[in-house]
Amino acid sequence: MKRKICILGSTGSIGTQALDVIRAHSDLFEAYVLTAGSNADLLVKQAREFEPCAVVIADESQYDKVSDALSDLPIQVYAGSEALCQVVTMEPIDIVLTALVGFSGLRPTIAAIGANKPIALANKETLVVAGELITRLCCEHHVAMLPVDSEHSAIFQSLMGEHSAIEKIILTASGGPFRTFTLDEMRHVTAVQALKHPNWDMGAKITIDSASMMNKGFEVIEAKWLFDVEPERIQVVVHPQSIVHSAVQFEDGAVKAQLGAPDMRVPIQLALSYPERLKSDFPRIDWWDMKDLSFERPDLERFPCLALAYEATRRKGNAPCVLNAANEVVNLAFRQERCGFLQMADVISETLARVPYIKTPALEDYLATDAESRRVATQLLS
Ligand code: NDP
Ligand code: MG
Repeated sequence: MKRKICILGSTGSIGTQALDVIRAHSDLFEAYVLTAGSNADLLVKQAREFEPCAVVIADESQYDKVSDALSDLPIQVYAGSEALCQVVTMEPIDIVLTALVGFSGLRPTIAAIGANKPIALANKETLVVAGELITRLCCEHHVAMLPVDSEHSAIFQSLMGEHSAIEKIILTASGGPFRTFTLDEMRHVTAVQALKHPNWDMGAKITIDSASMMNKGFEVIEAKWLFDVEPERIQVVVHPQSIVHSAVQFEDGAVKAQLGAPDMRVPIQLALSYPERLKSDFPRIDWWDMKDLSFERPDLERFPCLALAYEATRRKGNAPCVLNAANEVVNLAFRQERCGFLQMADVISETLARVPYIKTPALEDYLATDAESRRVATQLLS
């Protein structure tokens, strides 16, 4: 029986690479549901190739375009964000790959967990916003959450076959395009410069988060929830070559790491095929070509977003939700040249100070916190 996969965000960077994996293993995997935000043309092209049972276009104004283009095929077409929460519950689905961007991933992920679907998690913001709620729901529904993020997949792989306690997680970071810039140089960087990541080709939002190192802060929070390790025991290490994807140190001092060429298809494929590993023709490490592997301490003065993420996760409650919402606002504003690079951290910090703290938020509190934080951050920007 083929594994039936629902890809939330099939038209994005992770989504299209997941379809590469499905294409290469069409004897094992089937794209059962595909979804897009507004890219109707690519969604239609994917649907014509993979013939899923259903597609969703979140942007309702694109419904007719998608529906007309697929009218000769037996594919159900839905529109709107509510439809995302419904399709994930379709009975035949074996696994849901969450590759939406930002807060938009939260509600569909909750719906999928409620329907007892295993989650291949790319959308880290879901765990940043509501890690406590999500891990509790996974526990209640006995749902597995398999990491797609390369660092978390590396940690997961380092833990395979281990039953011993984790002493420390070593979370590697490329350092992004501004790793060697001075504070003064960083003041003037543009979105065009920030969108050129040295090692990874990713969606625009996460590429900016990588440049500010907010992405690494999010990954600290993601690791905390996935592996039940407090942030004090998660050490971020800048490793510009992105060969060591992350590591785990055990109580006897031994360190296990996972290495490989930087290629997201490796962790995507493992999340879909787990517990099996499948053959692939993805690039291998060329050991003779590898010049050096270097490791540096992150500079929290030049990358204050990383410090803000540690601070938010220490505060717990709705603080990481505020962090995420404010970051979504400034990330977009930076891409649209309405916010300077270093100004992003200032706005996030001020938003964290202004939005009322909630110690044990329920889902409605996360929704309200997200809305309020966006309002505050937007006001601070104007
Ligand atoms: P992209 O921007 O490339 O793709 C996002 C996908 O989600 C697209 O299919 C997009 O549709 C859809 N989408 C965006 N907004 C909405 C919305 N409001 N409602 C419904 N659908 C929406 O992002 P990435 O693939 O880069 O990232 C996806 C997630 O994976 C993020 O959480 C990111 O942090 C995480 N991740 C990504 C990595 C990477 O290498 N790219 C690595 C590790 C984690 P459309 O195309 O129509 O806009
Ligand atoms: Mg990552």
